[in-house]
Amino acid sequence: MSASSSTASSFETIIGLEVHAQLKTGSKMFCGCRVEFGAPPNTLVCPVCLGLPGALPVTNSNAIALALRAALALGCAVHTRSVFARKNYFYHDLPKGFQITQYDQPLATDGSLALVSEVGGEAVSVRIRRLHLEEDAGKSLHDRFPGLTAVDLNRAGIPLIEIVSEPDLRSPALARAYVTRLKQTLEYLEVSDGNMEEGSLRVDANVSVRPRGSRDLGTKSEVKNMNSFSQLEKALTYVAAQHVKLTEAGSVVEHQTMLWDPARGEARPMREKEDIHDYRYFPEPDLPTLVVSEAEIERTRRGLPELPWQKEERFVHEYGLPGYDAEVLSATRPLADFFEAVAGAAADPKTVSNWVMGEVMAACNEGGVGIAELGLEPGALAELIGLVGSGTLSNNLGKQVLRKMIETGKAPEQIIDEDDLSKVSDVGQIEAWVAAVIEDNPKEVERYRRGEEKLLSFFIGQVMQKSKGRADPARLREVLLGAINRDWGG
Ligand SMILES: [Zn+2]
Repeated sequence: MSASSSTASSFETIIGLEVHAQLKTGSKMFCGCRVEFGAPPNTLVCPVCLGLPGALPVTNSNAIALALRAALALGCAVHTRSVFARKNYFYHDLPKGFQITQYDQPLATDGSLALVSEVGGEAVSVRIRRLHLEEDAGKSLHDRFPGLTAVDLNRAGIPLIEIVSEPDLRSPALARAYVTRLKQTLEYLEVSDGNMEEGSLRVDANVSVRPRGSRDLGTKSEVKNMNSFSQLEKALTYVAAQHVKLTEAGSVVEHQTMLWDPARGEARPMREKEDIHDYRYFPEPDLPTLVVSEAEIERTRRGLPELPWQKEERFVHEYGLPGYDAEVLSATRPLADFFEAVAGAAADPKTVSNWVMGEVMAACNEGGVGIAELGLEPGALAELIGLVGSGTLSNNLGKQVLRKMIETGKAPEQIIDEDDLSKVSDVGQIEAWVAAVIEDNPKEVERYRRGEEKLLSFFIGQVMQKSKGRADPARLREVLLGAINRDWGG
């Protein structure tokens, strides 16, 4: 984007985010309908979530418990009394004609999330204005019937939390880092599965720009429909650049809602009808005030799991890992647990970290699976690392054995036995391989003796090939140098 360079130089980008996360409950927010992604359209509905006359909502206590966990993990003040409100608007995916949400009395306010800026690694604390509970709307399907919009109401009434940040984010990259950290935190808490592709985590952004050094906030655009981390960053970069262009040209930036089009890589204004602002909020008459006791707040606080930033810190202290390793290994709880299980059974945590971040994560990426689906036993990996550490296997053979362990589920010792893979340190055997290589390559030997010392790696490669990678490298080098120089001198 051409204008992004001028954003960097003379303009500052101001971003605030509204994140909607579906809660991991078995049933909906105000009725007993099952929550399930991908079920046949309109099969998970009842009079309550269809908004039929006379149907009364009942609050899902599990949804409240999950929202409470999220609020406390994000350092919010939880209010013992909060109020559900009706947000009135007319849309085909909203059969009731209103959405039940929280308005002027939300569940929680004033939290924060700490990040590390991509610029100079500086610590940034992003303030969270509020966290409230609400229900999801249905889903419009535009691709089922040509020229028609179909409505699937399975999603209507699924519990959501909305997390609203202050406009503290100063770049699209930092906005992406914020959503990444938030998603990771919600996953750690088992509050939401955070799946952006399936829409269980959705992000709306408010973007504006201002001349660097200015204290005023410029007119903002709202940006919607960013369904992945990379699309989020692209959309925000695009909209900020547009603002800079308009401002530099002396035009006025108008307040509007933009829809991001990932296919075209551009944002366009939403039609006026879709951008209604008068929601006529009022307290939901069918639901009582939401009361959360101090005791419940305390109990929830004490029951919070170790959070990502706490785990990273512990990995640095307890295992002596570099900060980078700690961050990579704590990306998800299953990965962190796997690392700890291996580290508990193997000698050196940094060696374990190298194996997990290197070979193991590469295998996960190749297979497109998480650590749990890889089927690698922590104890088996610890055993393998021990065999490499003791010199039974070379590093390269170790990697080969690991691949086989993942393919077959067999223990390392068994693979080594079956494939005859253990490292050969026996001098007699290595001398035989070296002698054969010297005999097979008289020209190269001649050149080496005339001073082409770089050919040494050629001979080492030849012996390695003969030994199928099993020759002990240190021993081999010793024997090779001895033989090639002795024969020459003799
Ligand atoms: Zn229902």
